[in-house]
Amino acid sequence: MLVPLMNLRLQYAAIRDEVREAMDEVLDAQRLVGGPRVDAFEAAVAELTGVPHALSCASGSDGVLLMLWALGIGPGDEVICPTFTFFATCEAVSRLGATPVFADLEDDTFNVDPGHVESLITPRTRGIVAVHLFGQLARMEALLAVGDRHGIPVVEDAAQALGTRRDGRAAGAWGRAGSFSFFPTKNLGAYGDGGMVVSSDDALAERVGLLRQHGIAPRKYFHRLVGANSRLDHLQAAVLGVKLRHLPAWNAARARNAGTYARLFEEAGLLDHVRLPAVAPGNEHTYHQYVVRVRDRDALQAHLTRAGIGCEVYYPLPCHLQECYADLPQREGSCPRAEAACREVLALPVFPELTVPEQEEVVGAIAAFYPDGRSS
Ligand SMILES: *Cc1c(COP(=O)(O)O)cnc(C)c1O
Repeated sequence: MLVPLMNLRLQYAAIRDEVREAMDEVLDAQRLVGGPRVDAFEAAVAELTGVPHALSCASGSDGVLLMLWALGIGPGDEVICPTFTFFATCEAVSRLGATPVFADLEDDTFNVDPGHVESLITPRTRGIVAVHLFGQLARMEALLAVGDRHGIPVVEDAAQALGTRRDGRAAGAWGRAGSFSFFPTKNLGAYGDGGMVVSSDDALAERVGLLRQHGIAPRKYFHRLVGANSRLDHLQAAVLGVKLRHLPAWNAARARNAGTYARLFEEAGLLDHVRLPAVAPGNEHTYHQYVVRVRDRDALQAHLTRAGIGCEVYYPLPCHLQECYADLPQREGSCPRAEAACREVLALPVFPELTVPEQEEVVGAIAAFYPDGRSS
């Protein structure tokens, strides 16, 4: 492959010694579940986000589940989610026996439309999940205002936005709680699965802490709640603690690569064909994905794949049209902007180690697909 969509081997090569030293320490001590590096990593995420409670768990999917579970969401409840997101967001709602209700996106950022969210509120609505898609925050002040007007808690699925800010406030620090994913391909990835819930609500954080570990209280083998086993391995915490120190530089490199694309696409005269990602006012963008929109997406994707350029569609089908939700009332046409986005989006390589010559290859391959674009 000429330019891969991502290349984690390059990242590992750059941090190999630090990571292996931390992993060796854990292995030598054989402290495998829980341990000082889990505590230290939780403290570091609390500091980064400015949120007092940070509770690690087994995955970002579990993070969303634990937040909603701790809020008491259950059968008969409705929870409003964006339809244009990774499936784990609404899956958590369904796993609790509640019903997801899907809101459309805003065309410029792909993030959820707060006006549509408000129009979906019913007497059964018990929660709103905001998602910070591709590395920039949803319009949290508007979503929180909707929640306040109706007395409904807002939580953040910030799986794609660790270390990202809006108006100076971190992802995860806006809602009643926020959750992060450390899936290997996220901006901060473990060497396996991992997740984290943050909250400044003492009671909610305490419930998340109980639920992630079998509801154990007041001591071992006594159970106050029926919970689950959802913990971050000590080995993963060791890896993540080392990698967290590099996150600001990696996020900055992603943003720099996005700036380079903007220049290259403009110079190639491709802006009539390729709609570049927009950054909403007040937002930082840490480009978990660099997602462009094009009208003839499937043909372009096939062309780039043949040319050895990695690219991917996030997401090809909105949540409200998934097979597993055929029994829910929302149909084709319920969220028309998300449905259109699913036909037009294409993610291009933006990983931190990407080079300018590689980006020139990407843009050159796209220029070859649109021969009427000016070649500079
Ligand atoms: C990745 C992701 C998740 C799930 O995280 P895992 O760690 O893979 O379970 C949830 N929501 C969003 C928006 C994601 O991108």
